[in-house]
Amino acid sequence: MRLYCRHIVPLRLPLGMALSVLLLVATVVPRTTQVLAQKRPSRSALTSHSRDRVSTEAREMVEVASEMVCNERVRDPKGSVPIDDMQSRPSLPVDSTEAVAGAERALRLLPLSQRLVVASLRQLARDYNLTGSKGLNLKIQRAVARVEAVRDVRPDVDSRDNASVLMRNPRTIIFGTIFLAGLPSDEGIISVLSHELVHIADGSQDNLKLLFRAVGNRASFLTGLKIKDQRAEELTCDLVGALTTRSYVSATPSYEALPQRIARALEHNCVDTDEGDEDHLSPRDTIRAILFLRPALSRELVYGR
Ligand SMILES: [Zn+2]
Repeated sequence: MRLYCRHIVPLRLPLGMALSVLLLVATVVPRTTQVLAQKRPSRSALTSHSRDRVSTEAREMVEVASEMVCNERVRDPKGSVPIDDMQSRPSLPVDSTEAVAGAERALRLLPLSQRLVVASLRQLARDYNLTGSKGLNLKIQRAVARVEAVRDVRPDVDSRDNASVLMRNPRTIIFGTIFLAGLPSDEGIISVLSHELVHIADGSQDNLKLLFRAVGNRASFLTGLKIKDQRAEELTCDLVGALTTRSYVSATPSYEALPQRIARALEHNCVDTDEGDEDHLSPRDTIRAILFLRPALSRELVYGR
């Protein structure tokens, strides 16, 4: 099974190529075909349902902070390219300067990302009270072992703006060259590496199923959006990406401003064409959901401390 992480069909693919992508996905990931057929416009961030549950101040903070993320992106020379922009770009050879630099960065940051993902998964398991039994602890241990076993990042032209993992080869993260080039900061790369590492941690045994469910339920409660099954998994992967990036920023002080560095974990979601699917919240709703789940990140983005 291949798990793609940005599976919105590139909008400007020639028809023949789009059909072969559809056929490939249909044969490899049946669940995703359904997604592609049912692509729908994203909803606004919040339904009236959630308005009863979240204070006006909290909602406003999330809106301001998510705008900050995308404003930082524009100002930042190392800002990430939004994924809809990446989709429109021509394929990038593996030996191009940007792809080589991205691949080197990803490989260099892989061991650190692994350690940060392990710490984040353990913390989330505690936060969501998932450490109470031997069975649950065993699943977390299995997840940790899978993260620690990853050895390689493979740049791939055909993956374009996607990153993916093959469950039959869980030691390698496949990283599209356009995606590598579109994330010119350590923080941007760490967030995506972490995302893929969480998929690997879950594996075919669903080691993290309860965590995904708990995060999805909490995010659904806060946003009013429907976040279960694969959507909950993808959101948890993105949440861990934001948490590991935040930890990295703490561990590596620099003269760059705190909001600028934190924003890089989320900037690839600053799209103009904000579409989600069955398996993913829309990119901008993903930013909002993470900020709802982690109010401290919102405050740091808005106040810079
Ligand atoms: Zn994913």
